[in-house]
Amino acid sequence: MQVKVLGSAAGGGFPQWNCACPNCRNFRAGTFAGTARTQAQLAWNAAPGEWTLLNASPDLRVQIDTTPELWPTGNNGPRDSPIRDLILTGAEVDQSLGLLLLREFHRFRVHATPSVRKILTEDNSIFGVLARFAGQVEWHDLPLDRPFTAGGAKLEVVLPPNTGFPGFVSAQRAKELNPAEAAIGLLISPESSKSTLAFLSGCGSISDALLERLRTCDVLLFDGTFWSDAEPSRIPGITRTARQMGHLPISGAGGSLDRFSTLAHPRKIFIHINNTNPILDDTSPERRTASDAGWEVAWDGMEITL
Ligand SMILES: [Zn+2]
Repeated sequence: MQVKVLGSAAGGGFPQWNCACPNCRNFRAGTFAGTARTQAQLAWNAAPGEWTLLNASPDLRVQIDTTPELWPTGNNGPRDSPIRDLILTGAEVDQSLGLLLLREFHRFRVHATPSVRKILTEDNSIFGVLARFAGQVEWHDLPLDRPFTAGGAKLEVVLPPNTGFPGFVSAQRAKELNPAEAAIGLLISPESSKSTLAFLSGCGSISDALLERLRTCDVLLFDGTFWSDAEPSRIPGITRTARQMGHLPISGAGGSLDRFSTLAHPRKIFIHINNTNPILDDTSPERRTASDAGWEVAWDGMEITL
């Protein structure tokens, strides 16, 4: 199974349109040692000519445009796409907005927890563009308590703690929903092998049980949003720490470098990297520290074979 990282940045991308942090400023000035990144997006090929999207980023149109495998072949008429399934790990804007870009009268399946489905289809009328004719988008509920098959892969939900529903969900609505369904991590395996990729793009802490679960995975794509716990509090308008935002920082005691230091087997890759994070700079000491600890930093176009 071929997995493609179509986007590797956190919400806002890199550079972010309204951001003048040192990273974004230096990138625009042409003095930054690193590449631009679109918002986090994965795709895998389930079978020849059949692709599954993991989430639907706001950059999805450009991401499809730059990925020939996702283009229509023309073999099935003038309107077609190899995209058959889409799996949502949450209802945040940077996970779901791209769904609206797939509205051009195309049939596909969306797999999500019941809470994520309700937030999008019952509370936000704009998602009605995906229900313009019977069978346009088929919604399938993801089970939290057992492995299942979707998008041509074997999947299992892992629940990162300290997550919550997106800020746009009303307190009243959030009370009616199962908090365990707000955001999920996934273990993904090809149907034909036991290789496993873990995808946890938003994870505020790692329990010992989760650490043990990840020990046997082959590839770990993990939350690389912030380098330090205080990093987001330096962004105007944000008063919370990285942990309070549901993102374990990379550095510091109990950070991901520390927590995963005994995780020898999996290939470890940071994804969902915020534009303020110094690991985006290929020459930064922070990037060197992450590399020395055995971590890679995902980039747009990265390919992983499972
Ligand atoms: Zn920035």
